[in-house]
Amino acid sequence: AKGAAMVTAVAYRLTEQARQIQQTLAEFRLSKAQLLEVKKRMRIEIERGLKKDTHQEATVKMLPTFVRSTPDGTENGDFLALDLGGTNFRVLLVKIRSGKRRTVEMHNKIYAIPIEVMQGTGEELFDHIVHCISDFLDYMGMKSARLPLGFTFSFPCHQTSLDAVCSHLSHLQDLEGFKATDCEGEDVVELLREAIKRKEEFELDVVAIVNDTVGTMMTCAYEEPTCEIGLIAGTGSNACYMEEMKNIEIVEGKEGRMCVNMEWGAFGDNGCLDDIRTKYDQAVDENSLNEGKQRYEKMCSGMYLGEIVRQILIDLTKRGFLFRGQISETLKTRGIFETKFLSQIESDRLALLQVRAILQQLGLDSTCDDSIIVKEVCGTVSRRAAQICGAGMAAVVDKIRENRKLDHLDITVGVDGTLYKLHPHFSRIFHQTVKELAPKCDVNFLLSEDGSGKGAALITAVGCRQRELDAQ
Ligand code: BGC
Ligand code: MG
Repeated sequence: AKGAAMVTAVAYRLTEQARQIQQTLAEFRLSKAQLLEVKKRMRIEIERGLKKDTHQEATVKMLPTFVRSTPDGTENGDFLALDLGGTNFRVLLVKIRSGKRRTVEMHNKIYAIPIEVMQGTGEELFDHIVHCISDFLDYMGMKSARLPLGFTFSFPCHQTSLDAVCSHLSHLQDLEGFKATDCEGEDVVELLREAIKRKEEFELDVVAIVNDTVGTMMTCAYEEPTCEIGLIAGTGSNACYMEEMKNIEIVEGKEGRMCVNMEWGAFGDNGCLDDIRTKYDQAVDENSLNEGKQRYEKMCSGMYLGEIVRQILIDLTKRGFLFRGQISETLKTRGIFETKFLSQIESDRLALLQVRAILQQLGLDSTCDDSIIVKEVCGTVSRRAAQICGAGMAAVVDKIRENRKLDHLDITVGVDGTLYKLHPHFSRIFHQTVKELAPKCDVNFLLSEDGSGKGAALITAVGCRQRELDAQ
């Protein structure tokens, strides 16, 4: 009888433990009503970003990009594109040919940005960039051409025209090591033009500054004209779409449309998502280099999903439910769970033994039970990410549908980003959520190929055409 009582006690402890783990994860499991609420709030923030009176204080900035149309196939010429991302950047020559057999031919070279340049002044950064362009033009034998240039920036840019911007090197850039902070608030295009002048070796016609979401939309729109939305679900998270000029109050003019870079990562920075943010989300925010900023992005982008998982695992370990109650050094290390690992852990084809092997690689000694729990934590966190990202997209497609006074909208979203491309479940759950929350829209998703290179060239091409039209 005593043995039986002990067995019962152990069984009770296990079910109690399972119950507490489920209770912890329950906060991440959002109901349809909650997701509809996220969609509704995104819509409110979109309006605040677009309206003159509220734009200043709005969190979702809805930045005008001065891209007035998607490509129509008549784009033609040779273009240079610069893609400045994390620790390296690319220079590309893109040859676009119009006509019956449209072609896009690309040549590119990747250059590293040395750490001392990255942490140096803006002038040093741009001198280095121009040095690399010079090398590339020599290599391609195109130094005398005065090519039109498009410049892709994967961070927020407050544009005042297609080719003038005020950069805000704030968000991800801090994390990725950029410290050329004296660029903040300066016109990046001017910095580039000045650096080209200093070099006195070649001329370029800087036509466009491009956010990566816009490049993604344009690349897909070149193949598929119904593409009027761009999405990045990767290290960072953001979207852009074609908005009616009359709704973009901070830009003169009421005719036609313009692409707006939403900068939706900052959604929630005014506290409007606080009721669904968990204590783990708060811990991730407090541990980040930009506390209080990009709260939505911190719930749904690749850079932070692993961090949320890590915070939950630390808590479950402290409570004695995992890793025999031992918090290892690994678990204390920021950034250990990259998207790559989450994707592997959540793969359906992977046996639990393999999950344990992955954890082992990370320096985490797990039991079989541990690996089951870790897998469930990862799945729960990434499901929520896909769902709230879907709720944001549902707000966008319904806004476009209402803009056009349609009962039903058919539209395509051009997508890029590692989370979307690599994760075994993210895209499926994301699609499903958009469908459920915006039932009056048929949304098609198209993977973008090299949006920041090809896209920048296409925007430049469309921009050149627009400039000719404006001159007439
Ligand atoms: C930046 C956006 C960018 C997105 C995707 C975000 O952190 O603020 O400008 O589009 O990442 O790269
Ligand atoms: Mg307007």
